[in-house]
Amino acid sequence: MTLTLNIQGHILRPDSGEAYTAALRRNSDLSVQPAKLIVQPAVYDDIPRVLAYALAQTPPLEIAVKGGGAHSSTWASSDGGLVIDLSKLNRVTLAEDKQSVTVQGGALWGDVYEVTAKAGVDVVGSPLWFVGVGGFTLGGGYGPLSGEHGLAIDNLLSAKVVLADGRIVQTSKEEEPDLFWAIRGGGGQFGIVVEFVFKTHPYAGPFGSGIIAYPGTELENVLKVIQEWKTTQTPADRLTLNFSRPAPHFKPSIVILPGVLHDTDGARSKTVLAPFRDGTAKPVLDKVGPAPDMLTVSHAADAAMAAAPKRLIIRGTFYSDMFPALLTAVWERWVAFTEGNEDVRGSAVLWDLTSPAKLAEVGVEETALKLREPHYWMAVQGRSTTDASVGAIREFTASIVQFVREKNAELSGRDLGWFVNLSQGNEKPEDVFGANLQRLRQIKAKYDPKQVWRKGFVIEPLAE
Ligand SMILES: Cc1cc2nc3c(=O)[nH]c(=O)nc-3n(C[C@H](O)[C@H](O)[C@H](O)COP(=O)(O)OP(=O)(O)OC[C@H]3O[C@@H](n4cnc5c(N)ncnc54)[C@H](O)[C@@H]3O)c2cc1C
Repeated sequence: MTLTLNIQGHILRPDSGEAYTAALRRNSDLSVQPAKLIVQPAVYDDIPRVLAYALAQTPPLEIAVKGGGAHSSTWASSDGGLVIDLSKLNRVTLAEDKQSVTVQGGALWGDVYEVTAKAGVDVVGSPLWFVGVGGFTLGGGYGPLSGEHGLAIDNLLSAKVVLADGRIVQTSKEEEPDLFWAIRGGGGQFGIVVEFVFKTHPYAGPFGSGIIAYPGTELENVLKVIQEWKTTQTPADRLTLNFSRPAPHFKPSIVILPGVLHDTDGARSKTVLAPFRDGTAKPVLDKVGPAPDMLTVSHAADAAMAAAPKRLIIRGTFYSDMFPALLTAVWERWVAFTEGNEDVRGSAVLWDLTSPAKLAEVGVEETALKLREPHYWMAVQGRSTTDASVGAIREFTASIVQFVREKNAELSGRDLGWFVNLSQGNEKPEDVFGANLQRLRQIKAKYDPKQVWRKGFVIEPLAE
């Protein structure tokens, strides 16, 4: 060892007891790995020291970076290496004019909403409070306000980044523009973002939210309603369609989770959701009402999340439209998978239906995100109550997203590839970054030629 680690933040080792164990935890138990060292920087200057220390070891320690720890992979963990855990860097500061908000790289979206909700402004972030701002944003960031305001990266004004060589730089369209381009959709391969500055928007609530649920026998009718509903959908209306087996009966169900912006007195959601209640499909549960702010919305799923099995694999991909043939085929596969094995009946499929027009206003060359034609995203959550079924949920999630990608390509004529925030890392890079891969590889060569950042979706440097 040639250097000592002298920092203001915390250093945790396997013999540090509960603090070490707590710092290893991730949203999925399958993402936990036993790090040799966990470092929780207290100030930005701690990070270059940590990097120098890790790289001076023989052999150099693997470096992983943890934001919110929500990604369903081991990208933010390390088996025997060093984890830079950003959780102490979670300050959120609203500008005096309330036009922007500065968020430290380890904050969760719940930390942001605590501040924005009090101030009566909104920001494009995650629908769930426990998702990290870091990973979510670097992969694009599709949120409840994306219909009106685009993706999180479309609202990013600037960022502060610790580079692989230890420099701390400011980046925006004017400063280090290549870096700014790459961190908007290229993932965590270019540095540690310690500060994001996002544009804020006027209060978008109250938010019509809740649940409308149907028995599985209504699938065909619900899909008809959604096709019709989409013809009048505005950027302020969003819903997610879930295939899940809710307790206590665990029967295959279709669960609609609406997100209606500007729902004053519940009036808009009544109109917007009327087709779901007009008798074409008959709900067995209908509980929708206005939530006052995004912080409240982001906690709506807390009870369900607490009860869900923690062995979780998520994979997701994009789709072009609500093709009944696509959704019906996935439904059949999901029912068959969750029917036979009680361990895995917590597995679910989610289809996001946010109005895509706004995100398509940005050109594909403007940010690293490869997909700017109108599209939606979907996710398969494989959950298991036992280790014995982990192989089965891995196989199931992989096979469903592969099927969705292929079937969507067949029905739409468009192959939309993979979604970095919901991939696992073993996908082909060209399928994740598309036409932007070449430029990302060149920017990688400029900012991380020695591949200090080796976790996550690895991009090979390419000298120009
Ligand atoms: C329940 C659930 C719901 C989700 N819903 C959505 C959704 O609606 N829309 C959507 O777009 N995505 C969604 N996601 C995906 C989510 O955006 C990604 O999993 C994201 O990576 C999580 O960010 P994190 O910081 O919590 O992750 P982590 O696991 O901490 O990190 C993920 C990756 O990002 C890197 N990283 C994190 N922070 C930084 C940083 N500050 N600087 C550099 N690298 C960093 C890590 O090194 C790692 O490679 C959801 C995920 C879950 C589990």
